Amino acid sequence: MNALAATNRNFRLASRLLGLDSKLEKSLLIPFREIKVECTIPKDDGTLATYVGFRIQHDNARGPMKGGIRYHPEVEPDEVNALAQLMTWKTAVAAIPYGGAKGGIGCNPRDLSKSELERLTRVFTQKIHDLIGIHTDVPAPDMGTNAQTMAWILDEYSKFHGHSPAVVTGKPIVSGSLGREAATGRGVVYATEALLAEYGKSIKGMTFVIQGFGNVGSWASRLIHEKGGKVIAVSDITGALKNPNGIDIPELLKHKEATGSLKSFNGGDSMDPNELLVHECDVLIPCALGGVLNRENAADVKAKFIIEAANHPTDPEADEILSKKGVIILPDIYANAGGVTVSYFEWVQNIQGFMWDEEKVNQELKKYMTKAFHNIKNMCQSHDCNLRMGAFTLGVNRVARATILRGWEA
Ligand code: GLU
Repeated sequence: MNALAATNRNFRLASRLLGLDSKLEKSLLIPFREIKVECTIPKDDGTLATYVGFRIQHDNARGPMKGGIRYHPEVEPDEVNALAQLMTWKTAVAAIPYGGAKGGIGCNPRDLSKSELERLTRVFTQKIHDLIGIHTDVPAPDMGTNAQTMAWILDEYSKFHGHSPAVVTGKPIVSGSLGREAATGRGVVYATEALLAEYGKSIKGMTFVIQGFGNVGSWASRLIHEKGGKVIAVSDITGALKNPNGIDIPELLKHKEATGSLKSFNGGDSMDPNELLVHECDVLIPCALGGVLNRENAADVKAKFIIEAANHPTDPEADEILSKKGVIILPDIYANAGGVTVSYFEWVQNIQGFMWDEEKVNQELKKYMTKAFHNIKNMCQSHDCNLRMGAFTLGVNRVARATILRGWEA
């Protein structure tokens, strides 16, 4: 099942639990606007190259549409559509006043030089600048993009509309927010703490396997290590490594910073990246691509808890297999909502022209993550459902209510 079919399925299950009107259900699934642009740039060698970019704006009933821009070879309309829809439910679960959107360019950013990436980002911005805005659609980083990409978008956008820092979030600290860089990983950790507390457990002393060591995975690993959790295996596209006594994460971060890779780190043994997801541990945290847990490997997963730091890492078949095995899954639309929550704080600071200190950002983030967890638990109780459906019913219900209040007519 592709990402869009899987996301639609979860939405429909939630809609049925909520008893939504069938016409409203149908209309909530239809994206507000789908933008496709061709971006042609001169490469460093003087040849021309064209890349296809998308921005899919899913829903704005609760506020400006919000979501990342991804640079990745697998960016295609169905995937971006699914991710845009997930943003709508995610911002609603987090109770921040936004709708959902997602964008991306089909490219491998590792194959482009910094100046090629800058040209591509500027051309993409030129083509979508009229359709984004502080109160319409606010992009942010995602896989393959970062604070530098956001600074280029802001600069290009400002040529047309005047200086408008709140038009993108996840910017460098000049006009960004303290704590935004770490926010998704930190939110994952707060979410994990909220879940474990339900079972009378805490991060200290538990074993963790983390798939993906980019922004989210490396921050989550660092914070788990600081809190006394044992990260016993990690992976990224350069390889995977394990250490049953716990990997020294600060040392691994230094190694990755120096070499760009997890390879040849002498604080662990290399392992098969496919084995990582089924490695013995208490908590598994997928922080990379979607669909990594599927019918091929779900039955072999040994973790007791899965925290979905990636977007839709568990496909519906795996979801069923894992829940039959009694594995507790903390769903993506809640578990990774820390990034967009601090994006909201950044946007608020930009609009106010007032910067918060990092302690305030982290405190507020913890408040939002903890509150959302308890709201999800309440939905689980009211609808007698698992955490994924608890989160979906919470998000979908808030969007449906906003839609009806604004005067939706069948
Ligand atoms: N790309 C992140 C996500 O998928 C953050 C989006 C944002 O900050 O708008 O949630």
